[in-house]
Amino acid sequence: MQSLDRNEVWFVTGSQHLYGPEILETVAQHSTRIAAALDGASAIPVRVVPKPVLTGPDEIRRLMQAANADERCIGLITWMHTFSPAKMWIAGLGALQKPFLHLHTQFDREIPWSTIDMDFMNLNQAAHGDREFGFIAARMRLDRTVVVGHWADPDVQDRIGVWSRAASARHDWSTGRIARFGDNMREVAVTEGDKVEAQRRLGFSINTFGVGDLAAHVDAAADADVDRLIGEYLDAYDVATELRPGGDRAASLRDGARIELGLRSFLGDGRFIAFTDTFEDLHGLKQLPGLAVQRLMAEGYGFGGEGDWKTAAMVRAMKVMSAGLPGGVSFMEDYTYHFSPDADLILGAHMLEVCPSIAAGKPRLEVHPLSIGGKEDPVRLVFDAHPGAAIAACVTDMGDRLRMVASVVDVVAPLQPLPRLPVARAMWKPRPDLRTNAAAWIHAGGSHHTSLGYDVTPAHLADFAAMCGVELLVIDAETRLDAFRDHIRWNDIAYHLAPRR
Ligand code: MN
Repeated sequence: MQSLDRNEVWFVTGSQHLYGPEILETVAQHSTRIAAALDGASAIPVRVVPKPVLTGPDEIRRLMQAANADERCIGLITWMHTFSPAKMWIAGLGALQKPFLHLHTQFDREIPWSTIDMDFMNLNQAAHGDREFGFIAARMRLDRTVVVGHWADPDVQDRIGVWSRAASARHDWSTGRIARFGDNMREVAVTEGDKVEAQRRLGFSINTFGVGDLAAHVDAAADADVDRLIGEYLDAYDVATELRPGGDRAASLRDGARIELGLRSFLGDGRFIAFTDTFEDLHGLKQLPGLAVQRLMAEGYGFGGEGDWKTAAMVRAMKVMSAGLPGGVSFMEDYTYHFSPDADLILGAHMLEVCPSIAAGKPRLEVHPLSIGGKEDPVRLVFDAHPGAAIAACVTDMGDRLRMVASVVDVVAPLQPLPRLPVARAMWKPRPDLRTNAAAWIHAGGSHHTSLGYDVTPAHLADFAAMCGVELLVIDAETRLDAFRDHIRWNDIAYHLAPRR
């Protein structure tokens, strides 16, 4: 995963000419200082770049157009230090195609009781200047994030950091390419969807490639590269004896390494951000890719099994949102339940493709039969996911609109060892409890595939969904089923009466 520090957020301060050049000079100095503080804040992983103070409609529109055209600019932070009459902002905000965060702050933290005069009041006017700006954004029905508080406060900087991570994922989607090897699994409903509408609204393109083209890359892998990769596996994992060089199944691991080299070269050549495959279409490949998919996911690629490009995109988005953070993100499937009087739990896994970024310890590299697909036994990493708060999220196509659904969960250690289970897995307790959570998920039409991520929160997803103009339904500790069902009904009406652009 690339670091986010190449991405820029432009810090935009509004004012007007009414105050004279001296005040505007002070406003510019304050703006530069705040931008520098945010740029240096450890909670904000992107660059924060100060822009000249804006005082008129033409310069506002030109700056918005420049932001649209700039490849590094992922969004804007706007702040009205003084009063900036908001009709000046209509053309610029109408042209802006990137997300913005309205930072409702004030340069001076506290009122200087004994010295405050009208000069101080006329400089620190965001309390009403930002309301004028807020009105026009509301009147234009623009989705944006509003953050209130002093700019040096850690919680304000944390919130800006969350938004900047969502904006980074939005930027990544808007230029991203997803490769599908084979189609969706036959007869499956939830993994289908309108790829044209997804590209129009979410930004990424989704295109299919013949698995034979991938097989050609696999066959072209050099023996020396296979040797090198086997060495990496031996260093990184606890490799089963039968897979080690000289072992009975050493050839299976070499086949797995070859698949990794082929996939890596195909995805790198095409500059893809995510990919899918399906066990129903593996012509020319000896195994269903397991280890290879796991390792590529750990490097930042999104992945979805059975042709699930929407979950592949979600895995990628959550990897971008949590770049540089330790928790990890994986493709996941709600697999099996543990109904228990103590606490109902979900055992999540997939046939093979769980990302080692969520592993609790050193993964074990093993080979076992796969009961479906009719290919040779695939190599795979086996591990338990580490405990911690996490979120499972998906995108579904409801026919008239795209919907994100997210479930807040607590990943726990398995209650007992699972010695006969030959796949990586995660066990979690959904909030507020399995009965409420699963019923809400089913009412919402959430898919059986999800992206499970630890450092992503509902706030990340709320910003992200708003930037994409899609619905978000969150199931968390506060969820009550009757209210959640009403929410779904009301959204059906809201999206019908006021469809997003
Ligand atoms: Mn599946």
